[in-house]
Amino acid sequence: MGYDTLFFDGRDDSRMIATALAEGRVILTSDTQIVRRRVVTNGQLKVILISSDEPEQQMHQAINTLNLDCQFRPFAICLECNQPLLERSKQQVKDLVPPYVFQTQSRYMECPACHRIYWRGTHWQSMTEKLKKFMKS
Ligand SMILES: [Zn+2]
Repeated sequence: MGYDTLFFDGRDDSRMIATALAEGRVILTSDTQIVRRRVVTNGQLKVILISSDEPEQQMHQAINTLNLDCQFRPFAICLECNQPLLERSKQQVKDLVPPYVFQTQSRYMECPACHRIYWRGTHWQSMTEKLKKFMKS
């Protein structure tokens, strides 16, 4: 969807909370301890307590609670580093993508930070279908 996100593995709640406060982020968690923290109860930090274990239900909850736009800027930023992706020509990525991809894809994007190359393959298609489903419901 193009929203800037970070993932924390749950080992260091304090660092996650400090980062969220410093960067104005919303925490999505199923950890009921976090919502009891003072920074949350006093309204300083926004936390959404995710109620389902099922990823699509979790998405629905996040979209509805935060009033997210599924078409905000889909596939515009790097999944790893949140950097806006840059258009690359077929020739520019010739040696950077698998031969089958090079033969079948014409549009490419590159992350300026981690240099990961993106293209509209089957993974992109299935994510696009999922986003359409979320928009309808
Ligand atoms: Zn990146």
